[in-house]
Amino acid sequence: MLLTQFQTIGSSLFTCGLISGCGGNLSVRMGDRIFITRRGSNKGSLEENDIIETGIFKNDRQTPLASSELWVHRAIYQQTPASAIVHAHPPHAVALSLSETEIVPIDDEGKEKIGAVPVIGCQSQIVPGAYADKIAQAFVNIRIVMVRGHGSFAIGQILEEAFDITSTFEESCKVLCLTKSLQAKPVTE
Ligand SMILES: [Zn+2]
Repeated sequence: MLLTQFQTIGSSLFTCGLISGCGGNLSVRMGDRIFITRRGSNKGSLEENDIIETGIFKNDRQTPLASSELWVHRAIYQQTPASAIVHAHPPHAVALSLSETEIVPIDDEGKEKIGAVPVIGCQSQIVPGAYADKIAQAFVNIRIVMVRGHGSFAIGQILEEAFDITSTFEESCKVLCLTKSLQAKPVTE
């Protein structure tokens, strides 16, 4: 059941162009345990041994096999009510994150479902090691956060919800990019 959810969302992220094959990561929380994609796994074709179970608060033998973003996932579970996390690299959102400190959707669905999304990492004073906390603490009345030049972290009660937020946000970012590029063109009579 859990594997099917990981496979469905991993495949959707890949086919929607929100991650490259081995990019991004997914996790689900169960009590004080976290089920997270294996480091370097292909999210488009996940198998049973690609889902690593480890602690949210404690390391164990499985911890080194988990995604390299485990520390961010742990910090989010420790500091928010999230039960699922999707980390993706949506290209239009990443492009906007390079020049914006906050990404504010202008399309109706984005305005309603997403709202203003903070971009973490715009200031150089982010202290190494505090990065995961900085991302987790940004989840105040929002369900998705961007990391500058890198990607998004979306939260939900189930993976499907976090995926929906991610894809809706990327759609909003496409509209923003298109609008910006249209405005950049000179108007000719
Ligand atoms: Zn990433």
